[in-house]
Amino acid sequence: MNEFALIQEFFNRPCHLTSVVKSVGDDCAILNVPVNQQLVVSIDTLVEGVHFLPNVLPSLVAERAVHVAVSDLAAMGASPQWLTLALTLPEANREWLADFSAGLFRAASMYGMDLIGGDTTRGPLTISVQVHGFVEHNTALQRGGAKVNDAIYVTGCLGDGAAGLAVLENRLHVDALSERYLIDRYYKPQAQIVTGQCIRQWASSAIDISDGLLADLNHICSASQVTARIDESLLPYSDALNACVDDQQKMQWALSGGDDYQLCFTVPPQHQPHVNSLIESSQITATCIGDMVQRQSQHYSVLSLCTQTYFDSLTKGYSHF
Ligand code: ADP
Ligand code: MG
Repeated sequence: MNEFALIQEFFNRPCHLTSVVKSVGDDCAILNVPVNQQLVVSIDTLVEGVHFLPNVLPSLVAERAVHVAVSDLAAMGASPQWLTLALTLPEANREWLADFSAGLFRAASMYGMDLIGGDTTRGPLTISVQVHGFVEHNTALQRGGAKVNDAIYVTGCLGDGAAGLAVLENRLHVDALSERYLIDRYYKPQAQIVTGQCIRQWASSAIDISDGLLADLNHICSASQVTARIDESLLPYSDALNACVDDQQKMQWALSGGDDYQLCFTVPPQHQPHVNSLIESSQITATCIGDMVQRQSQHYSVLSLCTQTYFDSLTKGYSHF
């Protein structure tokens, strides 16, 4: 199977979006961006042995790659459009490719996205997914917009991603139902696209939680030059986590475990009633966990309301270098 046959067989599928003029098959894809919209673009790479274990089901790696990449669009309040895929493979194995592309298209279809191109090379297994979305002119949510007195919210539940990884690595043993749930949260973290769009007009800043709440909230604090004050007792947990894990471990995973891909966002006082009514009417799932105060230190940016001290090294998050 040569490179072109491989692309044709596994990655060239009809596109559904009207914005796609030309997809796989030419030197470039040709795409329309509607007037009054801006293009938002992000890329994420998964390397075997660094981001996933060898011998994991290829469809799971593909699904995770898509969800994780799309999560960045959610954090901007964007609507997902197109994917490009840069795939580096040690060999062209039909079975592997069939399972991988099934997972990729399954995840892409959940967001209504089309695969419009990519690149295929030989080498150590590496998967880069680039995502493109639209957002109305100058309305994208950014990290730098938080102000003193803004409330801090998080979507969904925290800690499930880290717990899922712990299950996969045999560090956590739970009942079969919780195991299924937590592993799914790790491999198929649903990007919070709808929530991102719902909060876009009310929120002052947002970020997706990939490295743990403290590390990602720290990015908002640095970009916005404010200090976050959070009440750890308000952190939201899933039933599975509540049932299987002690309080200290739950909190540690929520604060610094990572892999949750929920959103953390801030809301100015005058917009909080709007966001709270979205929560009460179940249009979004989110919890208020604190507020922003004047920046007091260049070194610490998240303050605990429970202990009245700053969170320390946990705010660093995962760094590859
Ligand atoms: P070129 O060498 O001219 O850059 P390529 O051989 O890399 O072209 O790609 C040929 C076509 O196939 C292009 O349209 C490209 O976007 C697409 N393509 C290549 N690899 C992939 C892939 N893994 N998934 C989707 N499309 C791909
Ligand atoms: Mg070319």
